[in-house]
Amino acid sequence: METTDAFTGLECLDCGASFDAADEPGRCPDCGGVLDPTYDYDALDLTRNSFARDPIRAGRAGIWRYEAVLPFPREAAVTMDEGGTPLVEAPRLAEELGVGRVLVKDEGRNPTGVAADRGAAVAVSAAAQHGATDVAMASPGNDGQAVAAYAARGGMDSHTFVPSRASFVNKAMINVHGGDMYVVEGRIDDAIEAYEDVQAERDDYYALQRFVTPYRHEGRKTVYYELLEQLEWELPDAVVCPTGEGVGLVGVHKAARECRDLGLVDDVPPLYAAQSDGCAPIVEAFDEGRDEAEPVEYPDTICGDLEIPEPARSDLVLDALRDTGGGAVAADDQDIMDTAATIALHEGLEASVASAAAAAGAWELSQDETFGEDDTIVLLGAGAGNKDADTIRSRLMAKGM
Ligand SMILES: [Zn+2]
Repeated sequence: METTDAFTGLECLDCGASFDAADEPGRCPDCGGVLDPTYDYDALDLTRNSFARDPIRAGRAGIWRYEAVLPFPREAAVTMDEGGTPLVEAPRLAEELGVGRVLVKDEGRNPTGVAADRGAAVAVSAAAQHGATDVAMASPGNDGQAVAAYAARGGMDSHTFVPSRASFVNKAMINVHGGDMYVVEGRIDDAIEAYEDVQAERDDYYALQRFVTPYRHEGRKTVYYELLEQLEWELPDAVVCPTGEGVGLVGVHKAARECRDLGLVDDVPPLYAAQSDGCAPIVEAFDEGRDEAEPVEYPDTICGDLEIPEPARSDLVLDALRDTGGGAVAADDQDIMDTAATIALHEGLEASVASAAAAAGAWELSQDETFGEDDTIVLLGAGAGNKDADTIRSRLMAKGM
């Protein structure tokens, strides 16, 4: 395995056991827990200037700029130069929320138009390091498309299980990338069940399911390093993350602790999870003070990425919110679609409905006076607006526009 200098292996987040990354591609063999990459942080000796030190790559954006805190070096990566997305000022949104600044991390500008590309790049790189020929997962749609693209890039066959309600764009592009796609009648839980049945029978399928592979949440760490560097290492007052499974939020939480512990910044910012109220298990568990979410019996939201009725590791997501002094907020689907349209109209920015959920959630938080008038709020994007053009347009049409 070709790894970075400080990468030391994998540690189980549940039982604490350590493993060699070359031996374990997925869950903890002892307890079935989630494995997490570990590093020798003392050996890292990073400074705020570290990431730009290579003169050829100085200013070169992308997640591998942060390879020192990733398991694999750029040279060994399956990459399409993902990451390096802009942090865009949204002055009208700031005015609307009554805060100093709102900055949108526009993750729609990734190779397949979603934040999931960051995790897919690192996880497919791990699959390549393990010599995988086939990768498999279940997906609500967007991350399935991302993995299909990276598998194609890495010369692997992908096997993706999507629910029938996954978007046409996702299904079409999984096909276009040459992926083997199973459209499962029902919703994401049905797709996961179908995936797990097949995965159990196939030892040649390398699992890229979220929180089964140790590397998808790890890849999502990079968005936080990037936004801090873009803010010239000034901590924002809040980071709002659209949250379905919570892979992004768990990655950002790890990065926030790393950046504090490495001395790059002094503290961690409050992290907020934004969900749709049609499927808000994290918000409900947070409000009720529970450590784990209870499954949502009848999930129903137009935000496919956020329709995760039973997040695999809600405990890690809830821990991220409580540990950072953040919170969880749900917005109504109609408000989310209106927000997507408003951002497009007034800021020019195209946001997927999941991205718009972060903005709609931030608006709800502003109504509760969560933010101060000078605060800098970062909204993490989930995906590009054209992923959900039909949904957002249909909302305008329903309003006679
Ligand atoms: Zn374990």
